[in-house]
Amino acid sequence: MTPEWADKMGGSVMKIKLLGSSVDNPNGPQFTASYVIEEHLAIDAGCIGFVSCLDKQRKIEHVFLSHAHLDHVASLPIFLDNVFQLGEACPTVYGSDAVRESLLRDIFNDRVWPDLIRLSYEESPFLRFVGLQPQQSVTIGSLSVTPVLLNHVLPTFGFVVEDDQSAVAFISDTSSTDAIWQVAASKPHLKAVFLEAAFPNGMRWLADKARHLTPELFAQEYAKLGRELPVIAVHIKPAFQDQVIRELESLGLPELIIGKPNEEFEW
Ligand SMILES: [Zn+2]
Ligand SMILES: [Zn+2]
Repeated sequence: MTPEWADKMGGSVMKIKLLGSSVDNPNGPQFTASYVIEEHLAIDAGCIGFVSCLDKQRKIEHVFLSHAHLDHVASLPIFLDNVFQLGEACPTVYGSDAVRESLLRDIFNDRVWPDLIRLSYEESPFLRFVGLQPQQSVTIGSLSVTPVLLNHVLPTFGFVVEDDQSAVAFISDTSSTDAIWQVAASKPHLKAVFLEAAFPNGMRWLADKARHLTPELFAQEYAKLGRELPVIAVHIKPAFQDQVIRELESLGLPELIIGKPNEEFEW
């Protein structure tokens, strides 16, 4: 087996898949959020439990949750059921104290779904929960994941995921924010940023209330990076998708990519 460092010396890349969430159309609108990195690590669980190939689900051993809004955790209970096996092996789920409390109170409460966290202490575990603290990195193999607090209606983490060759930032859900841009900008090997653009410019009032970005705010946020790197627009509300994309494209950002469901990126 090739040691990890030798693999890296060979110029391997970080592979990221923007997981699609439309049931009957792989290119349809993005309803929920999940990103799969190197097949074994996921950011958010909006749709990982709906991937048709169970072997692909079983490969996902680490799930980082940004926050507990449903479009980011909707498939988590289904996913944990799908990959459950007898024995000690189970996925590790990472999140803030607020996420843990919400999972316990709102989802794994024996009404919406069985209390998989309690059951995990009693028999073969469904999951292992690991608490995240702001800017305390977690290392998984060759990857390091740094959570950074964003500015959303409840405590929400953005993430910077990196190995020794590449770093990528995931910035969603949020209104205007600074800390994660500072962390991202401090990475000389930063290759790309996934950034949300939820509502059209004309719905700034709703974006402000829900603490999301419009294309105008998207441009202001991206400028905080201080250099031009690919920026992938994500978390576009399906109901306003065409308008948001038009407004994003009119910004004239040369490195703009509109995130397409099931698109795979390599950096
Ligand atoms: Zn949210
Ligand atoms: Zn969301």
